[in-house]
Amino acid sequence: MGVSDTLDTALATARERYVAAHPRSRELAERAAEVLPGGNTRSVLHIEPFAFRVVAADGAYLIDADGHRVLDLLGDYSAGLLGRRDEVADVVRAVLDRGWSYGAMSEPETTFAEAVVGRFPSVDQVRFTNSGTEANTMALLTAHHATGRERVVVFAGAYHGGPLYFGAGGDGLRIPFEFAVLPYNDIAAAESEFAVNGADISCVLVEPMLGAGGCIPGQPEFLGALRQLSAAAGSVLIFDEVMTSRLAIGGAQELLGITPDMTTLGKYLAGGLSFGAFGGRRDLMAAFDPGAGGLSHGGTFNNNAFTMAVGASVHQTLIAPGALRAVNQRGDAMRDALAKTFADASAAWSVTGWGSLATLHPVAGPVTLPDDLRDADPRRRELLFHELLAAGFYIAPRGYIALTMDVTDDDVDRFVAAVAEIC
Ligand code: PMP
Repeated sequence: MGVSDTLDTALATARERYVAAHPRSRELAERAAEVLPGGNTRSVLHIEPFAFRVVAADGAYLIDADGHRVLDLLGDYSAGLLGRRDEVADVVRAVLDRGWSYGAMSEPETTFAEAVVGRFPSVDQVRFTNSGTEANTMALLTAHHATGRERVVVFAGAYHGGPLYFGAGGDGLRIPFEFAVLPYNDIAAAESEFAVNGADISCVLVEPMLGAGGCIPGQPEFLGALRQLSAAAGSVLIFDEVMTSRLAIGGAQELLGITPDMTTLGKYLAGGLSFGAFGGRRDLMAAFDPGAGGLSHGGTFNNNAFTMAVGASVHQTLIAPGALRAVNQRGDAMRDALAKTFADASAAWSVTGWGSLATLHPVAGPVTLPDDLRDADPRRRELLFHELLAAGFYIAPRGYIALTMDVTDDDVDRFVAAVAEIC
């Protein structure tokens, strides 16, 4: 039997074991499929042949409908960074006590905005949204308004939201801006785009690390070149820090020493509640001042009482620089240990990432460009996912890991040992 057949057999066995272990989840998935296409309302959560259903979370653990308890290493795709801390629940309870749905302004949004402005070097003013997708859409429109230009530079493999996805299969449903999709970490390609089209480029939208594209860090020289090229052409440089803002108090922009014109945020900044924000240079954001007849940016839930209250306290009491540093150092140590595990086992696997974010790839590596993943066999990815789940560890089927503050050094050690065993 060839390697490919062996893989098919192993994967079929793993799926059968998964199906047998999740009868109640299967029932719930079948019921869901009647009213939700494929039983799903968030594409990334699909698992073959059906996704297990969670009934509760307990600290760093998820408990599913069949009673399995798995260590949550996915952290809600990065939104769960803070973990399920009592302090977050206390803030939510306090909002329940004093009431919600005001349809009016309140103090927490100012406190939250002050914290965001204080944290990120590029953000003089900010507006809140409900998601990172909305934040990116608004940032693109802000740049269009400021420059009067149409062209938007983005990068192959990037994910800026459901309708702003530039990986394989993303073009089926994409907001129709005039996109130029360039290769990531390729300075020459960016230079030639600006040489030919510079005067038409409204903005560059870039993740400092390709997140969904495989946790591939942007090279500092590449991101620095984008800063120079966009400044020279009068284009707006937008850093999508929806994922990378967790890498330091000032986000990846602080670590890189590169200040974009605008920044978009999302995920964990409101403690795991629905959240997004876009902000930047005062002159760009001034366009939204309603008192000056500015651009309309509505949103019933932009300042919803829960998100604003938790967001304000996250930054007042829950995200000390030391706590952020610790979770990111734990991630760095985990990636080092995983890389050593793969090397010791001579396994054709590699790990990429930055701080508390990582992705396991079924290729020997090194992986520094999206193109380095072209030979990745999705069956090996899925097999690792199933083996880890059966061993009690939940990561994304695509190999992605986002550590939360509930995950301990001991948890990471046990996870690395499980990976070694599977190798
Ligand atoms: N940008 C990046 C870099 C992301 O990772 C995501 C979410 N995975 C988004 C934008 C979209 O955020 P949301 O899911 O809140 O719309």
